[in-house]
Amino acid sequence: MKDTVTVFWFRRDLRLDDNIGFYNALKSENKVLPIFIFDKEILSKLPKDDARVTFIYDTLQEMRSELQDKYGSSIAMFHGNPESVFSELIKNYTIDAVFTNRDYEPYATKRDESIQQLLSENDIEFKTFKDQVIFEKDEVVKKDGAPYKVYTPYMKLWKEQFKKEELKIYYTYDVLDNLIQNSRLPNLSLSDIGFTKSNQEITPYTVTPTLIKEYEDTRNYPAQDATSRLGPHLRFGTVSVRKMVKKAIAESNEVFWQELIWREFFMQILWHFPHTKDEAFKSKYDRIEWRNNEKEFKAWCKGETGYPLVDAGMRQLNETGFMHNRIRMLVGSFLCKHLLIDWRWGEAYFAEKLHDYEMASNVGNWQWVAGSGVDASPYFRIFNPTTQIKKFDKDLKYIKKWVKDYEKSSYSKEIVDHKSARERCLTVYKAAVS
Ligand code: FAD
Repeated sequence: MKDTVTVFWFRRDLRLDDNIGFYNALKSENKVLPIFIFDKEILSKLPKDDARVTFIYDTLQEMRSELQDKYGSSIAMFHGNPESVFSELIKNYTIDAVFTNRDYEPYATKRDESIQQLLSENDIEFKTFKDQVIFEKDEVVKKDGAPYKVYTPYMKLWKEQFKKEELKIYYTYDVLDNLIQNSRLPNLSLSDIGFTKSNQEITPYTVTPTLIKEYEDTRNYPAQDATSRLGPHLRFGTVSVRKMVKKAIAESNEVFWQELIWREFFMQILWHFPHTKDEAFKSKYDRIEWRNNEKEFKAWCKGETGYPLVDAGMRQLNETGFMHNRIRMLVGSFLCKHLLIDWRWGEAYFAEKLHDYEMASNVGNWQWVAGSGVDASPYFRIFNPTTQIKKFDKDLKYIKKWVKDYEKSSYSKEIVDHKSARERCLTVYKAAVS
């Protein structure tokens, strides 16, 4: 006789506490079998020592240990294609339902449709929950149901709607006794999935009252390193967005709160317009004649453009998997505008390197810097990589930290002249979009 279970499928929600789908699974009738699938399709595109894979792996091991030590349970780990994993599970258990939290990226949406199909063919319910955002899909839209393409009115309505609802925290720990009692569920090692331990670490997040209170004053200065580092934690769900919004409100910091709303703004854009992951939101921007010079792209990637603030940012990214937001805007603008290299090249490089890489935010922000996106800066706004130093790194602290050969004879010469690159950009963009 096979056990009847409810499966809970962890994905971008790697935490036991305040996890809505997990909570609901645990409150359901049958014992819960928690699972995680290392999807071969996703892994095949990543470097073998990817820091994010190490982070996911280590987080799952910690969660497994906690469930084993305190609750006599665990998380079953699989490596493969999700459909094949579910086919196997269906053979081994009588599954009443599969619960999971929704993921809105185009690949995930398709994957979930095929899993739903497979489950329904086997009379198994597939129940999905909103967990990684406060508002999803078309919950914050204009009166006529059309999505917002401009941030400010979206943000205002988001806040208005938020104030009307009670923000509930789901105390998953209260219901963990409904897990299946088997602490020897299948495990994997990093090498089983074809990976090695990364020597880069995902930085823990900081949301102290002081950081949140001083956020506006410090967030623009990369040398101060005074932002929350929440990115990867929101991406992989090691923190609950509801708790973070609560903190922002408790410290009455609208600016910090609004950053969290930017995240949801871009998520709803990608959900409404999934083609914008590789096409310009404003289609005439796809007429731009990019130069796409590979040698210059390599110099940009390595942080050898001869523009120290750009180079500091790229070196910080290469060494640590993080780059300060101010500098992301500068290096992005420099790539698209000074070098006339397609924003998609930069987006792909960031996707490989950023620990906080998240498709909606990365695409949304890259299209913003390129001028092709929603609510984007006008194309003729071109950051001056030298005057930006005076504004944001006047003591050269950030530059000196990351560009060790700054002011040495070995340091690269400027790969383009600012003034002529600016003029060239204006000519090329104007030809495409006007
Ligand atoms: P904080 O300043 O402490 O902000 C808190 C949280 O608010 C962030 O973790 C993030 O979830 C959200 N947030 C802040 N700014 C933005 C923004 N502009 N857009 C969307 N969400 C925001 N952010 C990502 O999470 N993933 C990406 O792949 C990504 N790619 C980017 C690419 C470019 C070219 C640019 C200009 C920005 C990108 N950002 C991305 C946005 C922003 O730079 C990062 O969210 C931020 O620097 C992460 O550091 P933090 O967690 O310390 O942020």
